[in-house]
Amino acid sequence: MQGQPYIVRKDLVLVGGGHSHVAVLKAFGMRPEPGVRLTLIARDIHTPYSGMLPGYIAGHYDFDEAHVDLRPLAHFAGCRLYHDEMIGLDLKNNRVLCRGRPEVPYDVLSIDIGSTPDEAGIPGAAKYSLPVKPVDRFLIGWNAIEHRVRDATRSFRIAVVGGGAGGVELTLSLQHRIATSCATAPVQFHLFSEAPQILPTHHERVRRKFARILSERNVSVHLAHRVHEITAEHLLATHSGSNLVFPYDALIWATNAAAPGWITRTGLAATPGGFIEVDDCLQSVSHPGVFAAGDIATMRNHLRAKSGVMAVRQGPVLAANLRHASRGETLSAFFPQRRFLALISTGDRRAVASRGPWTLEGALVWRWKDRIDRRWMQRYRDLPPLNGMNAGTVVPGHRNDGVAIREISELAMRCGGCGSKIGSTVLTRVLARIPIISRADILIGMRDADDAAVVEVPAGQVMVHTVDFFRAIVDDPYLFGNIAANHSLGDIYAMGAQPQSALAIASVPFGSEAKIEQTLYELMAGAAVSLEESGTALVGGHTSEGAELAFGLSVNGLAERSRLLRKSGMRPGDRLILGKALGTGTLFAADMRHQAKGRWIDAALESMLQSNRTAADCLLRHGAHACTDITGFGLLGHLLEMTRPSQVDVEVELDSLPVLEGAIESLTRGIFSSLQPENIRLRRAIRNLEATATHACYPLLFDPQTAGGLLASIPEANAAACLADLHQLGYIQSAIIGQVLEPSDTAAPVTLIL
Ligand SMILES: Cc1cc2nc3c(=O)[nH]c(=O)nc-3n(C[C@H](O)[C@H](O)[C@H](O)COP(=O)(O)OP(=O)(O)OC[C@H]3O[C@@H](n4cnc5c(N)ncnc54)[C@H](O)[C@@H]3O)c2cc1C
Repeated sequence: MQGQPYIVRKDLVLVGGGHSHVAVLKAFGMRPEPGVRLTLIARDIHTPYSGMLPGYIAGHYDFDEAHVDLRPLAHFAGCRLYHDEMIGLDLKNNRVLCRGRPEVPYDVLSIDIGSTPDEAGIPGAAKYSLPVKPVDRFLIGWNAIEHRVRDATRSFRIAVVGGGAGGVELTLSLQHRIATSCATAPVQFHLFSEAPQILPTHHERVRRKFARILSERNVSVHLAHRVHEITAEHLLATHSGSNLVFPYDALIWATNAAAPGWITRTGLAATPGGFIEVDDCLQSVSHPGVFAAGDIATMRNHLRAKSGVMAVRQGPVLAANLRHASRGETLSAFFPQRRFLALISTGDRRAVASRGPWTLEGALVWRWKDRIDRRWMQRYRDLPPLNGMNAGTVVPGHRNDGVAIREISELAMRCGGCGSKIGSTVLTRVLARIPIISRADILIGMRDADDAAVVEVPAGQVMVHTVDFFRAIVDDPYLFGNIAANHSLGDIYAMGAQPQSALAIASVPFGSEAKIEQTLYELMAGAAVSLEESGTALVGGHTSEGAELAFGLSVNGLAERSRLLRKSGMRPGDRLILGKALGTGTLFAADMRHQAKGRWIDAALESMLQSNRTAADCLLRHGAHACTDITGFGLLGHLLEMTRPSQVDVEVELDSLPVLEGAIESLTRGIFSSLQPENIRLRRAIRNLEATATHACYPLLFDPQTAGGLLASIPEANAAACLADLHQLGYIQSAIIGQVLEPSDTAAPVTLIL
């Protein structure tokens, strides 16, 4: 996951994966900045490219064609990706406040979070209308509208509020989409604009063209209509002094850009509309360490309409200035053009070009626009292969700026053994910040100054011990801490036990005291989420500085001796139930090679964060005869650990294996975890190998899992009910994957069913 060791000197934090920041990521990936650690906090992992958005909505592009996938791009840039949302800023202490994770400190901060349509406090707008941004939420809402359109038995009215380029393009794209879909009832579009004309920032000639196109497409345009209230079924507007009421079936909001309300509360200098005010260098006019670009920024000296084109053009200057700022150098100025070419699509694979009074219309313009847009997307999709020169990687001999050499000599001077321990003051400060469960049975724990922890064991119960430790699978310490802790707890649940106490083992990359403290804090805060959820008390641990981030827990659990679940105990006739989908090994191997889609990794992370706690209870309730959790040895390895002591054969149905999205695609491309070749040696345990090894799911049998699901042997009579309960509990991909058979061939106990 990580490159060579390096010393972090500056934290450059990017918030929002907007059009300017994708250029920053690419620039830092192409030319890493020694000593600068990049972190991207992004609410969405896919950025819709504004140029292709209308074409995507009209149905001309698929999701991947129209979205920049931030995960491989961040990887390429050696940038940590924190999938979260900024909700505030502590400017005094240089910290970004996030919705779902600890605050993120920065030395240099850049904000590119876009905008949302302005609802201008209009009563009912927030409740009843569907805003065009955020785009992913718009599309979910639009899908629901399309279903209603399909079921409509009478004419269906769609109102769009906003007559700028965005609103007009959106209306025409939606109209095209509906016209080419299976709508049975007639659909009427109504476009409302407060301004006396559509496209107010464009030339009269362009406006005339669009007025004609809208009329040809039967869109009713209501100009100079000030919408002042929305009810569940009506839009209320004033026009020439009269109050008018328009019924609607669906209402879409596509007005001017607005900024989130919290910006003004941060103390950053902002415009009356709440946008961050920046100078010619895209630097906050009030806080020099803070930069902003795209819709969220307003350039004090150059007022321009908010647009994707502007955000794109700011990208390279922003990248250069972030580099200058982290080096303490003079910044460069950005002078935006007064007029630039706009290519506005009309939804039907045609477009209108507009630059001042010059305009051109037709299919050729669309093809021109399409070519430009595809070329732009290609820049962020076709990334150069990994060459060991990513940010955060120090390769001796490749840098001649002296910094790398200095860093390496500093590393060489770090101590090993106990001298590599993280200092006690850092540790004490971190532990004071994370929640630690205290319980009466913890006689000596974390808060007591003793050599070891002491935990009382209730009479009649047995203690279950386990330990896990591994290198970071993701470069977000908080997420990694949470996953690693969840993984470590898995063994306890697989035994049918309840976790009680844990010791942590952490290795944190070298750095200044402040950087080490923050990483350790994020790691421990992440682990605390899983520990709290499971009711496990952290009673001690060991930390050290090291080449890379690594973490694990030694966990103790308690169980009634009679309720212990073992790997042995499978009985012929039992059904095999697998609690979670397979594929994390290949997916993270693909992620390292920039070959995984961001949404695949998101789904895999979600699965890895899901605790096996309630699944274990469910399996016990349904009389599980044996159980284990699927981790490094893969499904086959762990299955054999069950069949051998149980002295049974098993039959596994390859088509029934639950699979994480993207895993088969990744395996088919020949991307395997580095542990796969080791695991594959177990294939001789498969009786009908020849006939089954070409099945697409076959390599999944050997794929190592992190925080994988439980595999249990359940009495046949209970299997269906057990599976239904697992689904109910949220293990939506759990499945019956086979059955247990009488023993016949101890050397090859596994038969695969196609
Ligand atoms: C229908 C429609 C069509 C358009 N067509 C065009 C066009 O053809 N040409 C054009 O130039 N412009 C067009 N625009 C305008 C264009 O979409 C925006 O100007 C452009 O997207 C702004 O880019 P940005 O970089 O500022 O932000 P965005 O591209 O919006 O990206 C902001 C990112 O920040 C993330 N984010 C938001 N809030 C937070 C937070 N609090 N914390 C962390 N992350 C956050 C979001 O997930 C998002 O990915 C169109 C707009 C609409 C609505």
